[in-house]
Amino acid sequence: MAENEQIKICPLCAETIKAAAKVCPHCRHWQPRKWSFSNPQLLQSVASVFWAVAIFGAIIGLGYFLENLIGPKRDFAPYQSQIAVVSSEVSLQMYGSNLTVDVVGVVTNKSNFAWKNVGLEARLFDKDGKLIDVIQASDSSYDGIVVLPHAEAGFKIHSRATQKESEYATHKVFVGTGKDICAWP
Ligand SMILES: [Zn+2]
Repeated sequence: MAENEQIKICPLCAETIKAAAKVCPHCRHWQPRKWSFSNPQLLQSVASVFWAVAIFGAIIGLGYFLENLIGPKRDFAPYQSQIAVVSSEVSLQMYGSNLTVDVVGVVTNKSNFAWKNVGLEARLFDKDGKLIDVIQASDSSYDGIVVLPHAEAGFKIHSRATQKESEYATHKVFVGTGKDICAWP
């Protein structure tokens, strides 16, 4: 080794080597802090950082997903009174020999939250105001509706009539149970 050449010590094998060496001639170790894309150690470091960030992101994402899936859900009960029936209409129709009752209408959600499986119950009365029939869209029913915050949603509840057509006079629709839109299922 010429005397005027800069030298350094290889960090791996401790041999004295030229300062400009990218690879130690003794142990083939790539020398640190040589900023070059041809240095596989640099590429490995970049890949390691990339994977660390990707895995960290995936863990955070999974955490949010699980929180959404199994975390605490907003209880519907305090908000029930903020779901109001805007309009509703009853129609009675014969399907073959069966009389069916359909109640269609619109509800409005005055709360700041979205709800799903909102159950609705139509109570049907005779001309004397006596309750003669009840039909429901319960939370297990496909008729349970989704209501977005400060929005309206249409509904339709349908059932076989239990009384003769002439008995039905008036009706009123009530809001039943509902679920946080994030609740699963
Ligand atoms: Zn070496």
